[in-house]
Amino acid sequence: MPSIQKVAASVGAMELRTTDVPKIKPNEVLIKVRASAICGSDLHLWQWDESIRGKLLKASDQFKHGVVSGHEFCGHVVEIGKDVKTIMDDPNVKLAVGDFVSAESHVVCGKCYQCTHGEKHVCVNDKIIGFDRDGCFAQYIALDSSCVWKNDADLPFEIAAIQEPLGNAMHAAAHFPLKDQRVAIFGLGPIGMFCAVIAVIHGAKQVIAVETSPTRIEIAKTIGVSNIIETKIIPFPDEKGRAEERARITKLVRDAAGHDGPDVALEMSGHADAMVNAIKCLRRGGKLIAFGLPKNQAFTFDNYSGDVIFNGLTVQGIIGRRIYDTWYKVRDLVRNKKAQDLLRKVISEVAPYQDYPRVFEKMLAGKASKCVLDWGKA
Ligand SMILES: [Zn+2]
Ligand SMILES: [Zn+2]
Repeated sequence: MPSIQKVAASVGAMELRTTDVPKIKPNEVLIKVRASAICGSDLHLWQWDESIRGKLLKASDQFKHGVVSGHEFCGHVVEIGKDVKTIMDDPNVKLAVGDFVSAESHVVCGKCYQCTHGEKHVCVNDKIIGFDRDGCFAQYIALDSSCVWKNDADLPFEIAAIQEPLGNAMHAAAHFPLKDQRVAIFGLGPIGMFCAVIAVIHGAKQVIAVETSPTRIEIAKTIGVSNIIETKIIPFPDEKGRAEERARITKLVRDAAGHDGPDVALEMSGHADAMVNAIKCLRRGGKLIAFGLPKNQAFTFDNYSGDVIFNGLTVQGIIGRRIYDTWYKVRDLVRNKKAQDLLRKVISEVAPYQDYPRVFEKMLAGKASKCVLDWGKA
């Protein structure tokens, strides 16, 4: 079967190779991949960032062999292991050959404290497909049945393929109810963009977004974002210029929301200045969702007591998806035709899988939002 693998510890080094169709274990399911979506973390893999090196070096045994990339997909069940009983933590859901499925990308242990106390999304032994083991940029994937999610048979394949990252956005955006809230989103990468769609569909009173990329700003205009604020990325000539830009953005967000500031801020960019702006723009008693991963781990509060304590902020870090609470919320969203239309605007391209180098380059150049690779009809 064809598969796209990371084959060496260097930039690029993702090759289309022919490999054997994986053999399933008794608790696994073999899935013929219909489409797989490219994630920002796959771009990090391409660029060979420090953030993902350790996982890949371990999974490839120091690149004695390649590792199939990809962790966001949909496909059809072709074989079910003899020990597979149920899926989705629901004894009423039965799996059959031919079913249209997607999958949770975190294979969890089911044994640690978190797994046995309703917090599988923060399992201490989790393995992520496409990083810790072979992924879904392939014609077939074998996967533990505990990860398999059954889709509606008529769900469009390009929507089915993006449910995993949509789950990240749902976990972040729906942590606090957004109905009638004034929401500010910092960073409109695909997950930030999905958060905007969720805020619109969930009935937010106002969706304000702060973004740098002209491509993303154009998309944001089509999905119901009410106020788009363009900002610049450093290098600023000096710290003073940078501080002035922070103050400008904070003021624009507060003015847009009304002088007291938005009710909820979603920090989706990982930029330290955006984090500061998100904290400073909120109204007293506001809520902050922290999702973006900063490149520089340390960041400074210049007025921690005033901005966080006296303002009574709630700060919530978000990782992964709640298994399977978040997936059920995503299912409600993708069954909504208006949501499907908005999500299609966030998908820049559905390309044949052989085109992956061009699509990766386009995404790396900031000229695309979410992109999907098509592995062909079942
Ligand atoms: Zn992802
Ligand atoms: Zn666990």
